[in-house]
Amino acid sequence: MNEILRIAVQKSGRLSEDSLKLIKECGIRFDNGAGKLKTAATNFPAEILFLRDDDIPGYVEDGVAHLGIVGENVAGETDRSVNTVHKLGFSKCRLSIGIPRGVEYNSIQDLDGKSIATSYPRLLGKYLAENGVNSQIHEISGSVEIAPSIGLADAVCDIVSSGSTLLSNGLQEVEVIFRSEAVMIASRQLTAGQQDLLDQLLFRIKSVQKAKNNKYILLNCPTSAVDEITKYLPGMKAPSVLPLATEGWVSLHSVINENDFWENIEKIRQAGAEGILVIPIEKMIQ
Ligand code: ATP
Ligand code: ZN
Repeated sequence: MNEILRIAVQKSGRLSEDSLKLIKECGIRFDNGAGKLKTAATNFPAEILFLRDDDIPGYVEDGVAHLGIVGENVAGETDRSVNTVHKLGFSKCRLSIGIPRGVEYNSIQDLDGKSIATSYPRLLGKYLAENGVNSQIHEISGSVEIAPSIGLADAVCDIVSSGSTLLSNGLQEVEVIFRSEAVMIASRQLTAGQQDLLDQLLFRIKSVQKAKNNKYILLNCPTSAVDEITKYLPGMKAPSVLPLATEGWVSLHSVINENDFWENIEKIRQAGAEGILVIPIEKMIQ
C-alpha cells in the first residue's frame, strides 16, 4: 500500500504553531524548514502542506490535501464540501457582534434595518435569519473593526478572543454568534487506505488529548482510606495499590482528571493521603 496522507496546515498565523505541535505529539516527524510549502514526514506516510487558512477547505474539497486543520469559523463559513472529523481544542475564539460603545443595546432585534460589516457573511446571515432579523451585511475582508468609525456600517461581526481589539476601536461586544476552536477537516473522497491512515492519526490525536486532560498521581495513605480516595480517582480501571514498609500503609497509583483537579486533591488529602506526587502523562492509550 503506497497511500499517503496530505495534511494542510496554516503557513503562518494563529493556528500554525499548535497544529504542528499536535502532529509532532502524534509521533510524526518532519522537517519544517522555514519558508517551505511542503514537507514529507519521515516515519509516517504523510506530507504536510503549508497554506493560508482560508484556502485549506478548497484544497481539501478538491483532494489536493486529504486533511486540513482550520478554525471552525473557517470550516463553518466556507461553501466547500468537506467533513469536520475532530475538534482539536486549541485556537479557541468566538465570532461576535460589536457596536459603538455608548449605543444602547437590548437584543439582536435592535440591529434590524442596520448594517453590519464582517468577513463572515454566511455565519452572520444564518444567525440573523434564525433570529428573524433583517440587517444589511457588508462583506469586507480585513480591518472590520474600523467600519463603524469610518461610517461604513453600524456594527461589526468579527473574531474575538480577549475583546481588546473591539475595545481599542471604541466598540462593545454585544452578541456571541458562534464559538470556534481548531478542527480537523477531511476530504469526502478518501480511499480506503487514506481512511485507514486517518483513523490511525485520529487514534493518536485522541491519545494525546486524553493525556493532556489527565495526570498520573502517586500517594501514600492508610489502607483503610483506599476506598474513599479511589472515589476521586476515576483512573483507567482500579488504582494500583502497593504495600509500604510501614504496616497499615500503602502507595496508591492512578490517574486524576484535570477538570476537577484541585477539588479532588483537597478531598484526597482530607481522606488521609500524604506525599502526593502529580506527574504529566505524555500519551494515554485506552
Ligand atoms: P492567513 O494569513 O492564513 O489567512 P488569518 O489572518 O486569516 O491568516 P489568523 O489571524 O492567523 O488568520 O487566525 C487563524 C485562525 O485562528 C482564525 O480563523 C481563528 O479560528 C483563530 N483565531 C483568530 N483569532 C484568534 C485569537 N485571538 N485567539 C485564538 N484563536 C484565534
Ligand atoms: Zn485567513
